[in-house]
Amino acid sequence: MTQYAFYFDSSKCTGCKTCQVVCKENHKLPTDNLWRRVLEYQGGSWSVDASGCYVPEGAFGYKISLSCNHCDMPACMANCATGAISKDEDTGIVSIDREACIGCKACITACPYEAPTFIEETGVVSKCDMCLDEVSSGHVPFCVASCPMRALDWGDKDELIAKYGEGDVEIEPLPENTTGANLIIKPHPAAQKTGAGTGSTVNLAEEL
Ligand code: SF4
Ligand code: SF4
Ligand code: SF4
Repeated sequence: MTQYAFYFDSSKCTGCKTCQVVCKENHKLPTDNLWRRVLEYQGGSWSVDASGCYVPEGAFGYKISLSCNHCDMPACMANCATGAISKDEDTGIVSIDREACIGCKACITACPYEAPTFIEETGVVSKCDMCLDEVSSGHVPFCVASCPMRALDWGDKDELIAKYGEGDVEIEPLPENTTGANLIIKPHPAAQKTGAGTGSTVNLAEEL
């Protein structure tokens, strides 16, 4: 079995959100829904010197581009009462059957990455499907293809690890990896480990 995964180089990401917008546009998501979000994590402080200039005092910041991680042990799937969520045996892609979803939001509560999103217009939950139609046609996902910094990659997880190394996924503001997330992050030089963070997510509400 192949397990597809995402790779994300946080040291390259400028936070332009092209990946987020291209995903939203190509999947025709409503105004209040995102399948990929670019989290902005910042901390530290600034002071003002005698000449009125701002001086960083340990100020830091970096971005994490995040979608569904098509986990090995999907908490969303384990908590869906109707069996609407499944993990494909050949690709490892975790999908939601919109016909079987009753919109109870149990998967939204269960997912540590806040990946599933409730669509008000249809009354069901949806999330990143790894651009199933695109990858089935031999293309890469829209978000990966669109990144101007080439900070994103996608493919067979073992091949990504061979190319980039094991990386990390327990980087603030992401949680402990309890679901076997298929996301390989190359951390930003300022990255803080999950549980040891001193910063906070500073996105506007509409960006989340
Ligand atoms: S990231 Fe969340 S929604 Fe995606 S497979 Fe894992 S638990 Fe499910
Ligand atoms: S793989 Fe496709 S559906 Fe998933 S975040 Fe990227 S563009 Fe969106
Ligand atoms: S498109 Fe690339 S550089 Fe821009 S926010 Fe997404 S991952 Fe970062």
